Formats: sequence, C-alpha cells, structure tokens
Amino acid sequence: SFIFHLNLRKPAPLRCASSLTMESPKPILDFEKFDDGFVQKLVYDALVWSSLHGLVVGDKTHQRSGTVPGVGMMHAPIALLPTPFPESYWNQACEVAPVFNELVDRISLDGKFIQDSLSRTKKADVFTSRLLEIHSKMLESNKREDIRLGLHRSDYMLDEETKSLLQIEMNTISCSFPGFGRLVTELHQSLLRSHGDHLGLDSERVPRNASTSQFADAMAKAWLEYNNPRAVVMVVVQPDERNMKSLAEVETEGRVHEDGTLTVGGQAVSVVYYRSGYTPRDYPSESEWNARLLIEQSSAVKCPSIAYHLAGTKKIQQELAKPGVLERFMDNKDDVAKLRKCFAGLWSLDDPEIIKKAIEKPELFVMKPQREGGGNNIYGDDVRENLLRLQREGEEENAAYILMQRIFPKVSNVFLLRDGVYHKDQAISELGVYGAYLRNKERVIINEQSGYLMRTKVSSSDEGGVAAGYAVLDSIYLN
Ligand code: ADP
Ligand code: MG
Ligand code: MG
Repeated sequence: SFIFHLNLRKPAPLRCASSLTMESPKPILDFEKFDDGFVQKLVYDALVWSSLHGLVVGDKTHQRSGTVPGVGMMHAPIALLPTPFPESYWNQACEVAPVFNELVDRISLDGKFIQDSLSRTKKADVFTSRLLEIHSKMLESNKREDIRLGLHRSDYMLDEETKSLLQIEMNTISCSFPGFGRLVTELHQSLLRSHGDHLGLDSERVPRNASTSQFADAMAKAWLEYNNPRAVVMVVVQPDERNMKSLAEVETEGRVHEDGTLTVGGQAVSVVYYRSGYTPRDYPSESEWNARLLIEQSSAVKCPSIAYHLAGTKKIQQELAKPGVLERFMDNKDDVAKLRKCFAGLWSLDDPEIIKKAIEKPELFVMKPQREGGGNNIYGDDVRENLLRLQREGEEENAAYILMQRIFPKVSNVFLLRDGVYHKDQAISELGVYGAYLRNKERVIINEQSGYLMRTKVSSSDEGGVAAGYAVLDSIYLN
C-alpha cells in the first residue's frame, strides 16, 4: 500500500562497523530533548504548510485519486526537520554539478564510446539493446543534435568510513522531484523560522533551492532556441497520467516532416521532455519504440536525447571510473580530479578478482542492472547467490550488471512523517544535486547547479525510492 509502516521493521544492526569506532560529534539535533507536545506542534504546522503549498501526492487508498484532479490527496512523505549535512561536502557537490553536465554532453558526442562500452551489455539486456539500436540508427544517418538540453540529477551518499562524498549515480532521464525538492526546502525553512529558537536551529542554514524554476527556465530557453513561437513543449508521460502525451499516443498522432519538424496531433513540438521512457514497462509494445525513434529522428529538442539517456547508464558510469577514460572527455586536469574524487569503486563482472571478493563479502557490494527508478539492485546474500548463479550459467548474462562498492553513510535519528503520523527512526540520507545544461552548437547557454533534493530512508532499507515507499523527501541543514 501507499503507506509505509515504519514500525513493522526493527532498525537493522549498524552495518557500518566504522561508525562504532569513530568518535561521533554531539548531534546538532538532540531529539531526546524534545517532548511529544512540541513535536506534535511541529507536525501540525508541517501538515498545514504542506496542504497549503501543494506538497502533496495522490493517496492510493482513495478510490478517485488520480482520476479527478484535486480529489484524494495527502501530504507527501517527508522528514519533519532538515538533515544535517557538512557544508564542505555540499559545496563539493554543487561545484562538480556543471562538470558532470559537461561530461554527459561530451560523452553524448562520442557515439563510438557509447556503442563500444555497451556492446557486451547489449547481448545480455534487451532494453539497453533497443535503446542502442535507436542510437545506432542516429549514428548511421549522421543525425546531429545542435540544441542539447540536459536536466540531470547526480546522487551522492557521504561515506562514513572514508569520509568522502561518493556518487551513487548520474540520472539523465526523468529526474524525479525537482518540484518537491524546492517545496520541502521551503517547508523546512518555514518551520525553522517559526520554531528555530526552540530547536536551536537557524533557517538560513538550509540552502535556498530553486530547482523548479531553474528546470522550467532551462526548458523555456530551449524552446526559445528552437525558435518557432507556435511550437509547444511536449511532456511524455506514463499512460495513466492526464493532459499530456504518452509514447503510444505519439506513435498514433506523431509525424516528422521533411524539414525535421515533429508534429503531434497537428501541433509542432519544440521540446520533448520525457517523464517516462526510462523503464522497459514504458515500452509494452512496438508502438512505444516506434514513437521513441520518431521523436529521435525529428529536430525537436529532446530531454534527453538517446545519447544523453545512454550516457546515464550504470555501465557507462562504471566505464568512466576506469583509469584514463575521463581524460578522453575532459581536458582540464582539475575537472578530472573533481569528478574522480566522487567515484566509488565500480567494476564489471568480467573481473575474476572482484567476483571472488564479492562472493566472500557480498555485504560490501551492490550489484546493479541497467535500470532506473529504484528497486532493481541486488544486496547482501543475494549478491553472492546471483554471482554464483552467473558463474554456473556462463558468460553472457553477467554483462547485464555492474558491481559497485557499497557506501555506508552515517546513521542518525530522524522524525519521518507519513500519513499524518510521525515516527522516530534511524535513517540514512542521499543527496541529489540537480544540474541544467543547455547549448546550441558551440554556444553554452546554461550550465549550472539547479537545486537539490535530499532523500532520507530508514537504515534497514536497502533501496531509496520515495515513490516506491522506502524513503521520505528531505532538505539539508549545513553544519
Ligand atoms: P536507480 O537508478 O534505480 O535509482 P541507484 O543506483 O540510484 O538506481 O540505486 C537505487 C538506490 O540504491 C539508491 O538510491 C541507494 O539508496 C541504493 N544504492 C545504490 N548504490 C548504492 C551503493 N553503492 N551503496 C549503498 N547504497 C546504494
Ligand atoms: Mg537512476
Ligand atoms: Mg537512484
């Protein structure tokens, strides 16, 4: 169900052995000292604020939710207070955002690198192979994307053991929650303005977050660059959403004209923003694949283009971590160093040394297929079992996965708010930093850090999807 019953699970024993040995500084938020009455007051204010400002989601327990606008909504799952985050790491994540944007752009121009890096994956994973097929058609027809729009989110966890900010992944398609990111930040700032004295917290230490307007601004500027005042921005969604176009509808109603113009239902389209198209479920038939190809063949600005999409795959992330590969794309040594500093250990499954290690100590690894949207990774004993299975079954399928060093962030006490009720629990957090990039040929129009989103989840959960019900939306408190 929509409601995540936090109380059903006991927090797992601390997986991070190092956190026991490291001296832990006095927490900024001493939760023990707040009485229930005070917390209830905060909860009440948070719920009122969320209702008034649209920090709400559909309530799946309500029958008409999602079919009638304005009916059946509930406050979004949130952390009651912002989670402390060291300022130096925050600065690091902001600084590297434009560098990652540029990296994605450079990779997208290197068709051979994309095809070569994913050549083995292609044989083991049908979804990636279909995306590559479109990409390869574009290469064959010499299709160039002059106007390139990237709306990205680079996710990080703070590794407690090495005290470093390590990238979980780079998202280049359908980055979720730029709207909620801003809202939850504003909620926390508002709560601290009212109750900061009692809490001993200063609202100014929650960094400003303009994610919504910065992404919207980038889309608007892409529309301007396309330079057809009568063309629209088309948002491609999953079929159940309303007032927008699904891929299947694009196949039926879409057409690419001689000059490259994409029209859908007779309407010229300047910018295509994908809020779907990232999972095999979004392509239930050939129609959806046809639509994706059709859009790709047009002159519309695609967010993302097939090349940007593929540049965000986990396999490419792992290839980039190999020695010398970043240098292929970035001339500036400082930039290379900044990127590399964020890379965790990443390996392909054709490295027998690492397979052996992962079978011995699976808890130190995460096994990842080429998927997006949460809930797809393999952890713990399942890593061992799957690696052993792949060893028995032979070579091919192992190319569908990569192995990643498991990151262990600090566990801290938080108040999680769901379904109008708060729970205190032990949680870990993942910081997502949005980045917007827009260029037209040689002219870089936008390349900036564009807000952020913190996601906080109970430490006993391996995955972190908010929509999937594991995590809550959060912001950060700089310390
Ligand atoms: P997706 O594209 O499906 O979001 P991610 O790589 O972000 O895939 O993995 C999903 C979640 O799994 C993350 O949000 C994080 O909570 C957890 N996770 C992923 N990689 C690691 C890792 N190396 N160490 C610890 N947790 C991880
Ligand atoms: Mg992702
Ligand atoms: Mg993710």
